[in-house]
Amino acid sequence: MNRIDFRIILITVIGLSLIVYCKICRSESMKKEHTVLIVSGHVKEPASNIDNSGATSYSGIFEYEFNDAVVRYFGDKTYRASGVHYDVILASGNLGLRERVEYANIIMPELYLEIHHDAAQAEDIERARKAGEDSPLWEDMSGFSVHYSENNPFPERSKAFAQLFADEMLMDGFKPNLYHADVEKMMCIDRFKGIYNRITPCGLYVLNNTKSPAVVIECGTIISPHEEKYLSSEETRLKIVDAINHTLVKFFKIE
Ligand SMILES: [Zn+2]
Repeated sequence: MNRIDFRIILITVIGLSLIVYCKICRSESMKKEHTVLIVSGHVKEPASNIDNSGATSYSGIFEYEFNDAVVRYFGDKTYRASGVHYDVILASGNLGLRERVEYANIIMPELYLEIHHDAAQAEDIERARKAGEDSPLWEDMSGFSVHYSENNPFPERSKAFAQLFADEMLMDGFKPNLYHADVEKMMCIDRFKGIYNRITPCGLYVLNNTKSPAVVIECGTIISPHEEKYLSSEETRLKIVDAINHTLVKFFKIE
């Protein structure tokens, strides 16, 4: 092979390699990340009368602290599913209910997710407290639940996430909350999965006003002494974080 032939072959190989490399780069940059906005329910310091710090746990801790303890994980890349872009709002940042929804409607995520921890009616809590920590009454107001709304512009998409998430939680041994259905008469569309359709008179501001598919997760019931303890452990919180991430991967069909 003479020198000119060798140079032609070398230039051709380099040229082809560059074309392949550029195609790979372009396809990588075109791979759009799916977007989720994860919001920690309530605020630390309420600035308006529609905001508050949430329920108070059995031992007297405000709910927003439990919500932040779960949502905080998503601020760390280690706890994020690949292929998903996370926008995170902590309750301790004190962004009010209306402002959170306004922000969501500007950035328009593919999913709006709000994290909460649950309570019950004051008279039921009082009765259980009087009966003591070992009372079976706590059982009646325990468990996780998932809330979407037919009043949201994307009820089917929202419900799809709710169902996938409930499946993950059930697989992890969490139990569904039926107190909202049996005592508060909310519309429960699936008793096995603890899924609620929040329509009037039980509507939720965020579900009604967000212009993206939206779901509210009640991770569990912190007014119960047993569940408060369970929900306070890092192991449980990581189970919930994993359940959310696994659900996001399925919801967005990320391979
Ligand atoms: Zn709440």
